Amino acid sequence: MQFLFPPAAPVSVPVVGQDIRFPVHRIYCVGRNYEEHAKEMGFTGREPPFFFLKPADALVLVAPGETATMPYPSLTKNLHHEIELVVAIGTGGKNIAAADAHKHIYGYAVGLDMTRRDLQGDMKKQGRPWCIGKAFDHSAPIGPITPAADVPAINDAMIHLDVNGQQRQHSTIGKLIWNIAETIEHLSAAWELQSGDLIYTGTPEGVAAVVTGDTLTGSVEGLQGISVKIV
Ligand code: MN
Repeated sequence: MQFLFPPAAPVSVPVVGQDIRFPVHRIYCVGRNYEEHAKEMGFTGREPPFFFLKPADALVLVAPGETATMPYPSLTKNLHHEIELVVAIGTGGKNIAAADAHKHIYGYAVGLDMTRRDLQGDMKKQGRPWCIGKAFDHSAPIGPITPAADVPAINDAMIHLDVNGQQRQHSTIGKLIWNIAETIEHLSAAWELQSGDLIYTGTPEGVAAVVTGDTLTGSVEGLQGISVKIV
């Protein structure tokens, strides 16, 4: 087959400790999935899960022990960090019951759902889609994926973010309103999940602005941490 121009290279994420890469299909994100974060955004924290997407090529790969760079995005004056656990789907499916969700998970990574909060806020007020606030270029830094079998305690893991060495976000995965399995149940009722899908599961409280020159250091217990400098 001949293409009119060269197709974009496939997006993939390295796997910890293996010479193999996880090819990315879609990036799903869960909104307001920690009660204290929902409250800081002005909501009660008790509502059904809801989802948005980012394009796969919004990923910024962060290698272990290195600091990746993310360009400060256009149009915003209020770029926020959201540290999140990312679930990597190995086997797709639709209408997956929470009890079966573990069979569909390949592994986990640390991610940042970077957000142009001012633009997202404008869209919310007008009842318009969040894309411009959430799905922009370089909006999804991610570390390498650890296979699920290597992190059996993920449901109780600590999640943490520092900016320039100062703590900004600190919680545990146990505080997810909709846990990993329930999230997969809800998500797979709305879309047929595919091998290669990533799910950003939501952020705990403490979201705030970063500026050019800031370095974000994020971790989830048991996974490779990430470091990202805004340039
Ligand atoms: Mn988020």
